[in-house]
Amino acid sequence: MKYIIVGAVAGGASAAARLRRLDEQAEIIIFEKGAYISYANCGLPYYIGNVIRDRNKLFVQTAAAFNLRFNIDVRVTTEVTSIDTINKTITAKNLQSGEIYEERYDKLVLSPGAEPLRPPLPGINSEGIFTLRNVADTDYIKQYVDQRHAGKAVIIGAGFIGLEMAENLHNLGMKVSVVEMGKQVMAPLDYPMAAMVQQHIRSKGVELLLNTSVTGFEKTDDNIRILLNNGEHIEADVVILSIGVKPDTKLAVGAGLKIGTAKGIEVNEFLQTSDPDVYAVGDAIEFVNPLTHRSMITYLAGPANKQGRICADNIVLGNTHKYKGAINTAIVKIFDMSVGTTGVASKHLEAAGIDHLVSVTHNGAHAGYYPGAESMTIQLTFAPVDGRLLGAQVAGYDGADKRLDVLASFIQLGRTIYELTAFEHAYAPPYSSAKDPVNMAGFVAENILASLSAVFQCRQVSEINVDDILIDVRTADEYREGKIGSAINIPVDELRYRLNEIPKDRKIYLYCEVGARGYLAQRILKQNGYDRTFNLSGGYKLWNNCAVESGILNKINKTVTV
Ligand code: FAD
Repeated sequence: MKYIIVGAVAGGASAAARLRRLDEQAEIIIFEKGAYISYANCGLPYYIGNVIRDRNKLFVQTAAAFNLRFNIDVRVTTEVTSIDTINKTITAKNLQSGEIYEERYDKLVLSPGAEPLRPPLPGINSEGIFTLRNVADTDYIKQYVDQRHAGKAVIIGAGFIGLEMAENLHNLGMKVSVVEMGKQVMAPLDYPMAAMVQQHIRSKGVELLLNTSVTGFEKTDDNIRILLNNGEHIEADVVILSIGVKPDTKLAVGAGLKIGTAKGIEVNEFLQTSDPDVYAVGDAIEFVNPLTHRSMITYLAGPANKQGRICADNIVLGNTHKYKGAINTAIVKIFDMSVGTTGVASKHLEAAGIDHLVSVTHNGAHAGYYPGAESMTIQLTFAPVDGRLLGAQVAGYDGADKRLDVLASFIQLGRTIYELTAFEHAYAPPYSSAKDPVNMAGFVAENILASLSAVFQCRQVSEINVDDILIDVRTADEYREGKIGSAINIPVDELRYRLNEIPKDRKIYLYCEVGARGYLAQRILKQNGYDRTFNLSGGYKLWNNCAVESGILNKINKTVTV
């Protein structure tokens, strides 16, 4: 058998290595148009930021080592320019010598990845404007930035990679601004979680310009002028364009392979394209999301690597190994904070017409009495009927990644919030509490489903009527430092003795700092005959981030509701 693989990084290199492990006799050729194979794309921002100091550490494998270990014919700086699926051949072009030749295949694997978006804005090709996708881009950026340490950087796009670049350039001593067209950073997050991240970014001295788009660039004598849609401009020494990527489907389109509704290469559950001898993996494919049942593209290294392995199994062993789809589990380091998401955000469930409930909890990452316990925020989305977990977002410091992965496992296995309450974790004070933040998130969600607690969300605060009553159940000191709208203050410890101040025929909205005292107040009221009480999910802490952030937006832009 002769296997050809196009693209030699995440998905392609994984497929090639697995093919060899399963089939020692096969002829395997892997084509890569870049100069390097199997490198750590995910490490590139950290190399630019000097966190990874040794450039060689970026290369998981070299062409020579890969060839020696796996007996795979690695052809770098060689682009596959077309596929003839009838005759089962590809045409390749050696980008150094210009030589063009054909190779025959029995089975072909496409893993060409994604291409960065580069909109046709005036001046976009000026010197100093970069996209970051591969080692060559990294070398250009690093060389440019190394000469301008004290300069100014503008990142366009506040996605995961844009924010990683913002942090790394800031840490190099550059003054950094992030320009984002949307009203929030990190599109997969729901607004309250994003608002928390935004506050954190601003606290580090990075300027965030949200709801702001770039209309063009002008090269001045010594820097770049970035023109904004509000008529203003900012100047920078270096611009990183990080506005997103699109699947690289050029080869597939040219070969007449089917492209799906999300504009990725369509594959079946065995990762086989519309031609049975051509498989495809990674950023270039689309697949049905197991939670929304909608076709989507996942731009993540984990799924690409795992798909590479699965497709190799199917090629060698026959179609035996089904790919079940990705739930988009992703995490990013924002300075000292870790922010991650898995499953589906509330706004995306809403867009897909999927009925769900939301709960937000803040808990210490480990026992409060052990030094260094910092708060971690967990947002869950779950089905109202059976409590099936649909999504989770986590923002925190130590241990946020661990909780995100636990929640991702529950979602992937189709488990419910009830099972979160029983989740058994390793506990000692430096690591957790007897009730882990994951348990706590489960308890709160369970209370909602059991009708022990009705909640309202930050964005619903503006819907509270003048006839309704909003009670801040924190202490008088906390209340004095800041409150929501016209809330009155009845601290939870006084509530039992001040019930006469609260009419029974009104809707009662309650809040405390994080949600726990609000819930207790709600239980007291409920058992004293108050039937329509609602507790603010995530409390004042979450709401305040949203209020500050939407205040900033409203000051510079037209009104934005959260
Ligand atoms: P790639 O790994 O991009 O490989 C595709 C390769 O195909 C490329 O090298 C390309 O040159 C080659 N190619 C394309 N067309 C041809 C052709 N016609 N002929 C020959 N060769 C061709 N994901 C995470 O999960 N976590 C992270 O922290 C993370 N950080 C990232 C940071 C950066 C800066 C970048 C750029 C990506 C990051 N990603 C991260 C995304 C992750 O790297 C990708 O999802 C993953 O690499 C996709 O694998 P792939 O095999 O589909 O494509």
